[in-house]
Amino acid sequence: MANSNELILDIDDTLAETASAAMSIMREKFKHPDPVWELLTKYEQPGNVPEWQSIEAQEFLLKTMQSEEFLLNLPRVPDSLEVIEKLSQDFPVKLYMTSRMPKLKDITEEWLKKNQFPIQKIVFPEPSNSEDAWKLRHLNNSYDENGIFIDNHLPSFGTNVETYKGKLIWLNRYNKETGLKVISLNSWQLIYDYLRQ
Ligand SMILES: [Mg+2]
Repeated sequence: MANSNELILDIDDTLAETASAAMSIMREKFKHPDPVWELLTKYEQPGNVPEWQSIEAQEFLLKTMQSEEFLLNLPRVPDSLEVIEKLSQDFPVKLYMTSRMPKLKDITEEWLKKNQFPIQKIVFPEPSNSEDAWKLRHLNNSYDENGIFIDNHLPSFGTNVETYKGKLIWLNRYNKETGLKVISLNSWQLIYDYLRQ
C-alpha cells in the first residue's frame, strides 16, 4: 500500500522533455514559422499542430517518438531530478506510470537509470485500457490510492478527482486553466516548495 507521502510519477513531459524534443524535430523536418516554445504553449504536443496532420507527418512523428535514439537521449524536465533527490528522504518515489506502449519498457527503464531516477516499478497501460483517465482508475483500483500523483496531462486525472484519497499535482507548465480540483503548479521548484510547506 502506498503511503500518503510516496510519489507516483508520470514520465513524458513530467520527467522527460518528450513533447519539446519531438516538436523541435518536427519543426526542423516539416518547417514551421513559430518557435518551439510557442508551438508547445499553443498545441502542447506535435501531433496537435494543424500543419502536421498529413499521413506523412504523423507517421514520421510516430516513428521518431518510438525510436531508441530519441527515447534514450531525451533531456530531463528542468529541476525534476534535483527536486526528486532533495525530497527522497521524506517523499520517496513509489511508482512510475506511463502511457507509453509496453514494448518500450526496456528503453524507458534505461532512460530512468541513465538519468539517475530511482529504480521503481513502471506501470504501462493494458491494451484494453488506453483512455486518458486509466491512470487514476488504476490507482483507485490498486493499493496505491494514497500517494502523491504528479502528471503534466490533465486528462490523466479523469473527472472524478474527489475519488482519489491522495494528492493530485498537475505539472501545468503552460499555466492552462482547469475546473478540476487538482493542485496546479508550473515547475518542479514549485512542487518542492508546495510539498515542503
Ligand atoms: Mg506526460
